[in-house]
Amino acid sequence: MKRLILGFVLFQLASPVLAGVDILSIRTWHSPLRTRLVFDLSGPVVYSVFTLTGPQRIVIDLKDAASKAVPPADQTLGPWLLALRSGNPSNGVLRYVLDLTVELEHDVFLVPPSTVYGHRLVVDVEPVDKPVRTSIKPVDSAKKKNYVVVIDPGHGGDDPGALGRRGTREKNVVLAISERLKWMLDLEPGLAGQLTRKGDYYVSLRNRIKIATEQQADVFISVHADSARRRSAHGASAYVLSSTGASSEIGRELAKRENASDLIGGVRLGRQEHSVREMMLDMSVDWKIKESRAFAGVLLHELGKVGFLHTKQVQEAGFVVLKAIDIPAVLLEVGFISNEKEELALNTALHHERIAGSIFRAIVGYCMREHGQ
Ligand SMILES: [Zn+2]
Repeated sequence: MKRLILGFVLFQLASPVLAGVDILSIRTWHSPLRTRLVFDLSGPVVYSVFTLTGPQRIVIDLKDAASKAVPPADQTLGPWLLALRSGNPSNGVLRYVLDLTVELEHDVFLVPPSTVYGHRLVVDVEPVDKPVRTSIKPVDSAKKKNYVVVIDPGHGGDDPGALGRRGTREKNVVLAISERLKWMLDLEPGLAGQLTRKGDYYVSLRNRIKIATEQQADVFISVHADSARRRSAHGASAYVLSSTGASSEIGRELAKRENASDLIGGVRLGRQEHSVREMMLDMSVDWKIKESRAFAGVLLHELGKVGFLHTKQVQEAGFVVLKAIDIPAVLLEVGFISNEKEELALNTALHHERIAGSIFRAIVGYCMREHGQ
């Protein structure tokens, strides 16, 4: 009798976690490679996914869930999805059906709450045949002539990065600067810029590194904008990977924040950590840090000419995005979005131009120095 009661109590304890999850909203993001649907949830949900053919569909069943979300309009679903429908095939099951234009691969996973969002169910879809994968082609090493700069605009999609008081989002500012920089590099003979993201969508830290590797990049620059509780904090800073730890408390905090990007942007974490660890096995860290410091030094010198520097010295911290790359790599914070004046400036094309121009001159200076010219 006692055993029976215990069993009953355990069931009661386990079930409330699963009961009554609300779908609060559904958002979409589009990259050249995939479409992402994000379901904002009131709590973790139990789900199953299967596919149907004739016509092609992906079906997602959510247990004990109710929809309070307005489904996105069909025309906002991107090139591979025709429609998103919902219904209740049986009691306690909320079903979403995605109608597809072509056969798609899918990856569905839960993301735990972050600073920006609560529980999320992420649905990534991409074509099985990948005609659109032409946007970033791996480079054939025999044909490579240009000095390739991989420009990594931080954040994107669900991850807005730092937020200004007037609503400025780091992800938009750094994309604008990065696009400008790429444009400048591509005009210069012998140089080529490659962006890790080309729009407002999230790219995992692992994929940013993968792009740099595939492009056989010569130098990697991750572009960010800072925020601090102290509103007077202003100016640019340049960070390189530290093998021993952060050179300052600010650096430690910053690395923690920037490294949380995958949590906010939404990636399947188990797989992510494993891959980054694997990629880190074969690295000549000393050479890389020395060269990264040299490049960061030139960057600060050029940025100092057009505006304020937060620190004149190159800073060090343990940034994930700099870790698994075997080339000189710098994380640049172009200014403080939390500073009123800098937030205003960071919203202007003129300031984007100034910053991109400084980075461009630094790259030219560094690569000439590297080649002993
Ligand atoms: Zn950032």
